[in-house]
Amino acid sequence: METVKLNIGGKFYETTMKTLNRYQHTRLGSLTTRSEEYNPEKQCFFFDRNPEIFNWILDYYRTGQLHFPDNVCGASLRQELQFWNIEEEEVSECCWKSYYQYQDEMEVIAKLKENFTSTITADETASNRTVVRMWLFLDRPDSSRAAKMFNHVYLFFVLLSSVTYCLASHPMFRVDKEILLDLDVQLQGRLDEINNKKILLFYNTDEHPAIYIINKTCMCFFTLELFFISSPALRKRSSSRNC
Ligand SMILES: [Zn+2]
Repeated sequence: METVKLNIGGKFYETTMKTLNRYQHTRLGSLTTRSEEYNPEKQCFFFDRNPEIFNWILDYYRTGQLHFPDNVCGASLRQELQFWNIEEEEVSECCWKSYYQYQDEMEVIAKLKENFTSTITADETASNRTVVRMWLFLDRPDSSRAAKMFNHVYLFFVLLSSVTYCLASHPMFRVDKEILLDLDVQLQGRLDEINNKKILLFYNTDEHPAIYIINKTCMCFFTLELFFISSPALRKRSSSRNC
């Protein structure tokens, strides 16, 4: 069996010509000893490309499936696929999400940049970068470790808010009102008529101070989050007003 030696960016790989010929329309599949990358003295082919990604490229010839790890940037993989003349449709379905995710993110960033180009100055550009970074931090948990941590905090607040909302209606978590509202005699009479325990509970008691504080804290958190996540829209609106 004819073996082939490949030097990819200083890292050596060995495979067979039969493996490479599996996809003859690709750069590796059409290699011959007459190719300009062939070094007759060392009897190997040299390519100055990323050796880490090449691991996955070579596996494609061996197994017929093109996978790659999550930590490889889709843009970088695309460049390598173009160089090796491999169609991007060959990327296995299980890896589509991470491969195409960078395209989605680039589109979002392009749209955000487009929104701000009407008022580009040095200050504005720096400001836009901050807004984009902030937006990615809030909306894309996988954009950074801090964004992932924020996402956990966000989920915690959602959970906390839901639980306290339910607890606030339980008699155990309600305390007697210090001052009862002055209701007119007619309404007081109706309340007595209704004799509904829940209505009376809400009329005669307040939520526990701890529940109140937690609720207000959650509200502040969600308000701030809403303010920051909508800031690109606010910027767009304010810049269009200035025009
Ligand atoms: Zn995969």
